[in-house]
Amino acid sequence: MSNTENKIPYKIYLSENEIPKQWYNLRADMKNKPAPLLNPGTGKPLTAEEMSGIFCEELVAQELDDTTPYIDIPQEIQDFYKMYRPAPLVRAYCLEKALGTPAKIYYKFEGNNTSGSHKLNSAIAQAYYAKKQGLKGVTTETGAGQWGTALSMACAYLGLDLKVYMVKVSYEQKPFRREVMRTYGADVTPSPSTTTEVGRKILAEHPGTTGSLGCAISEAVEVATTNEGYRYVLGSVLNQVLLHQSVIGLETKAALDKYGVKPDMIIGCAGGGSNLGGLIAPFMGEKLRGENDYRIVAVEPASCPSFTRGKFAYDFCDTGMICPLAKMYTLGSGFIPSANHAGGLRFHGMSSTLSQLYDDGLMEAVAVEQTEVFEAAEKFARIEGILPAPESSHAIKVAMDEALKCKETGEEKTIVFGLTGTGYFDMVAYEKFNDGKMTDYIPTDEELEESFKHLPKVPGQE
Ligand SMILES: *Cc1c(COP(=O)(O)O)cnc(C)c1O
Repeated sequence: MSNTENKIPYKIYLSENEIPKQWYNLRADMKNKPAPLLNPGTGKPLTAEEMSGIFCEELVAQELDDTTPYIDIPQEIQDFYKMYRPAPLVRAYCLEKALGTPAKIYYKFEGNNTSGSHKLNSAIAQAYYAKKQGLKGVTTETGAGQWGTALSMACAYLGLDLKVYMVKVSYEQKPFRREVMRTYGADVTPSPSTTTEVGRKILAEHPGTTGSLGCAISEAVEVATTNEGYRYVLGSVLNQVLLHQSVIGLETKAALDKYGVKPDMIIGCAGGGSNLGGLIAPFMGEKLRGENDYRIVAVEPASCPSFTRGKFAYDFCDTGMICPLAKMYTLGSGFIPSANHAGGLRFHGMSSTLSQLYDDGLMEAVAVEQTEVFEAAEKFARIEGILPAPESSHAIKVAMDEALKCKETGEEKTIVFGLTGTGYFDMVAYEKFNDGKMTDYIPTDEELEESFKHLPKVPGQE
């Protein structure tokens, strides 16, 4: 064993030819399918026709497809993937040594592109299908800006117009991401704005508001539905996004298979669930088909604990309550993480697919506090060299904890975690941590109960 072990390189790269040519649709192997999106007006499952006013046709088909296990990746998207993929799978030899653990740690690094995260994997797919449908452009919202940046790269590549509604406070406080988007040709508007009806209404009711993600979604959807030739795109949560992100897991599995490595544990951070859903896809597929078993762990912030303290219920995906209802682990669409929360992953809900898998006991979840996340991030940066995104650092924290448990028990477990991106644009959060000014905030049960009271009334849901 130790003989083969020694042969594993620091970085396992696949060749260009080994980049997946098909995405894997995890839903095809699920016995309990994720619950369908509901029309908030009628309480009935959204039809393809209803969806096609908001989303591109091909993406609607992918959203609704619970049965096709493999879906071809169009050649143009494969070509784009070749510019920044395959992403390396790194054996964290330095981290293992520093921790003194017998565990074997691997991480899949998705930060090797200008946007700095895994979001580009779905951005290019969504932009491609919009272009193929002959649309002029797409609209979206962005908070901190990772999604907006990825989408502007994809739209620039395909010659597609992009209108981004960026939460005003981020627009003002994070000018670097804003300028990256503009450099790639996106039209970036601080939200709420006077360019939409919903924006004007919100401004009239709350003059001086610095905006929210929910409000930016409402504006982006309005612009998409009222402008000929535009559709709305979303960077996480949806089934189609998890499908595109399966490229992460497929590459990870192919790289491990080359060296005959079978992981015991797969760990990923969970905001809306897209990177985790993508990373675990082929492994969870084997688990669902009874071929193999893996421990799968979602890591979320204790300040926004959808899995560990949320309710499995139908809820709105946006604060503005105009988007479809999704059945998911949710803290309530009005839940906003405490202002001192600096580490991303602030969505109130979770992918319906992951929510179903979690409810069925097929995966675990843990919540961690942000100061311990930044401690792990800093340690990782100093040992492995990569400056991690705060989101990714949630997974680092739990991977390190698990490796330390192995040190106590002497078990040589193999741990794989997703390193979703780099932290170059998160230096304000790092500054807070370095200055010792970062604090933890965990919502009380009372706060959560208050938020649950506003869950929508849906037939079959008390
Ligand atoms: C957006 C983002 C996440 C969280 O989103 P998911 O959909 O849960 O994957 C995690 N890490 C980075 C770097 C991100 O940009």
